[in-house]
Amino acid sequence: MNIIVCIKQVPNTMDVQIDPETGRLKREGVESVINSFDEYAIEEGVRIKERTGGKVIAVTMGPPQAESVLREAVSKGADEAVLVSDRAFGGADTLATSYALSSAIKFIGSYDIILCGEQASDGDTAQVGPEIAETLNIPHVAYIKKIESIDKKSIKVERMMEDGCDLIESPIPVLLTVVKEINTPRIVSLKGKMAAKKAIIKILNASDVGADTKRTGLNGSPTQVMKIFAPPQRTGVGEKFSGSAKEVAVALVKRLSEIRII
Ligand SMILES: Cc1cc2nc3c(=O)[nH]c(=O)nc-3n(C[C@H](O)[C@H](O)[C@H](O)COP(=O)(O)OP(=O)(O)OC[C@H]3O[C@@H](n4cnc5c(N)ncnc54)[C@H](O)[C@@H]3O)c2cc1C
Repeated sequence: MNIIVCIKQVPNTMDVQIDPETGRLKREGVESVINSFDEYAIEEGVRIKERTGGKVIAVTMGPPQAESVLREAVSKGADEAVLVSDRAFGGADTLATSYALSSAIKFIGSYDIILCGEQASDGDTAQVGPEIAETLNIPHVAYIKKIESIDKKSIKVERMMEDGCDLIESPIPVLLTVVKEINTPRIVSLKGKMAAKKAIIKILNASDVGADTKRTGLNGSPTQVMKIFAPPQRTGVGEKFSGSAKEVAVALVKRLSEIRII
């Protein structure tokens, strides 16, 4: 099986701050990491390869510094790494992002399974995976927590639902988005670290992948972020009780019964 894993470089969300002047995320000096859901996608890709043979190709669209997440993917078992990078891809919304990634995937050619994370921790839309599948005109199944079985023509997967699981069979090629319950990513080995250091990262631009630049970046984005802001802190709500633990507990019970919660 040839497996393509789409991975995104995201800011370490604990550190993200918004510039009050420009309303943009302050990315300078903020550590970038691999989107956590994508680590599970890489691990699952490597496990499928170990079962069926073939190779895992990690793909990211982003600026040159996104190379670091591709090296991380190689350290975790990916065989090849592709950086899709061009100024023409800048300012992309999810539609333009998925178009650029689909163009790169078409260029890469033969694939059986495309794996994505459930969502990215910064954009958080969970749209890119299904949009890639729609652009490539292949089936997709989201929120996969288990691969039951797989052969050359079809795959059976468990999709996580709020109140249980769906067992779904799909023809191959297929795009799957995975949840964290699917596996426990392995610890990177010394061999993996060495492979990551030596890996040759293939860089593809818009013309390499034959992308129509009317459909990429800002040009290809029907949606634009008008403003990013932290919601104002709510004031005047909430009550604080002080005193000893016993006094606070008594005051809380009295207040809750006054407002008929208990
Ligand atoms: C309405 C709207 C407007 C936007 N406008 C802008 C803008 O003007 N400028 C701007 O810079 N950004 C903009 N963004 C952000 C940009 O669209 C997202 O960073 C990008 O499209 C990915 O979407 P996401 O983060 O929601 O990913 P999700 O859809 O949540 O990601 C799901 C999965 O898709 C894959 N994936 C996602 N992105 C990539 C990637 N780049 N490479 C490889 N795999 C990937 C990963 O497997 C990931 O786990 C906008 C977003 C929205 C919703």
